[in-house]
Amino acid sequence: MTKNNNLFFQLTQEPLNKGNPFISIPNGKTFSYHEMISISAQYAKAAIELGIKKNDRVIVQTEKYLECIWLYLACLRIGAVYVPINPSYTLSETIFFIDDAKPSLFVSDKQKPTEELNIFLQKKNVKFVCLIGPNSTSLENIASKCDDNFETCFSNADSIAAILYTSGTTGQSKGAMLSHENLFSNAKALSEIWRFSASDILLHILPIYHTHGLFVAFNTALVANSSIIFLDKFKPLEVIRKMKGATVVMGVPTHYIRFIQEKNLTKESTSQIRLFISGSAPLSPEIHRIFFLRTGHEILERYGMTETSMITSNPYDSLRKPGTVGLPLPGVEIRVVATAGAIPVTDGIIGNIQVRGPNVFKGYWGITEKSKSPFTTDGYFITGDLGFIDTYGYLNISGRDKDLIISGGLNVYPAEVEQVIDSIEGILESAVIGLPHKDFGEGVTAIIVFEKQRPLDEPSLQNLIRQKIASFKVPLKIIVRKALPKNAMGKVQKKLLRNELSSIFLDK
Ligand code: AMP
Repeated sequence: MTKNNNLFFQLTQEPLNKGNPFISIPNGKTFSYHEMISISAQYAKAAIELGIKKNDRVIVQTEKYLECIWLYLACLRIGAVYVPINPSYTLSETIFFIDDAKPSLFVSDKQKPTEELNIFLQKKNVKFVCLIGPNSTSLENIASKCDDNFETCFSNADSIAAILYTSGTTGQSKGAMLSHENLFSNAKALSEIWRFSASDILLHILPIYHTHGLFVAFNTALVANSSIIFLDKFKPLEVIRKMKGATVVMGVPTHYIRFIQEKNLTKESTSQIRLFISGSAPLSPEIHRIFFLRTGHEILERYGMTETSMITSNPYDSLRKPGTVGLPLPGVEIRVVATAGAIPVTDGIIGNIQVRGPNVFKGYWGITEKSKSPFTTDGYFITGDLGFIDTYGYLNISGRDKDLIISGGLNVYPAEVEQVIDSIEGILESAVIGLPHKDFGEGVTAIIVFEKQRPLDEPSLQNLIRQKIASFKVPLKIIVRKALPKNAMGKVQKKLLRNELSSIFLDK
């Protein structure tokens, strides 16, 4: 018999303890694995009642609700394609995603669409449904009236389970098509290397429209039969209090920066946690060091992206090397190649990172032109990240290739300069960008955030930086800010900074 690769089917295989708690929500209610299977079945039936069939796209644009998880699982079970989008998108951005994904259903946390959205949905023949609420037409209500007898459909390894739109920090958002097998292979690999088990309790503090909060967190916990504490808001103090009842925390670097600012982050308050994981943006070695001093925990940093799920991770048992993203996941191949072509560079040399493996997506939705292929002829995905393999064999990320600064004809890798700046006492974080410059082409510019007061002025900072790196990498200008512009995943929006500061070297 052909194997059913349906992700839900695979995630819930024996030995599943259906009595184990699956998830608990802020009001204290807990749902068991048994209830998860029944409720997702009801949501599957509700979605079918609303006309959803296999391969139909379902766009979900809501804040963080447990009901999104029921719907996500329901879509997997039907074989429909789950398409979560950021709730903070404006109307015109939302319309772009609807136009692109061509969904059959648009799920919102609003009772009704706005007039403009409604006109567009009708024109495109897309049904609207409100996720929750007392209204008899809400999905929650329809599901509550459905029975819970549902057989999960058959899916091939290549069937698409979800489309996740890239955050579009360096260009237009594109829909990454992720198959049932892409997601399952990654969940399995992560749960093994991070030693997830049925006795784990994951503190869930991430948004759920992104690969990190949805797939890395949920699928990894699910495949191991672990439990989840689902928090809908990130309040550092409250999260630290909840650590007493959890064993694993997954966060982005900004979460860790917020934690270390809280007095109640101590060895005692984190004593129940066996693993802190960070990803989605670079975690500075300095934050890693401070967190370790305060808690005795070495944060485990991993690297991945929407298109590939997770690619590398620092090891669980051996050296977790701050500032690096570790080794490839089992079954995943990476290589670092020279700028032009596919020739791997020598270890230690910075090049383009490429990845191949069962985790790598099936392509961008709606983009079929060969000339735009994101893959090499031998099947590697071109990540758009720059990096190098160090003497330990660990991958180091040097930044996005589009963020590379060329100043006076020389390459400046922002991550290297940021690490040096972040190691200066009193600096919380920094972003290094290149801005148009009359003489150098691009001028290296740092935007920094001090911890409390400003202990140093620009020339003193430049002198400190010059002691650690070549002078062409030293920022010509250092701008002090209260905070860096970041998206919900903690990624610094360098494009915004470049636009805002574009003329600082030209005005003179
Ligand atoms: P996204 O598709 O939104 O998850 O963004 C993926 C990008 O985030 C990657 O291509 C990297 O540029 C960046 N990224 C993810 N994890 C890390 C990490 N641990 N260190 C540095 N950059 C990271």
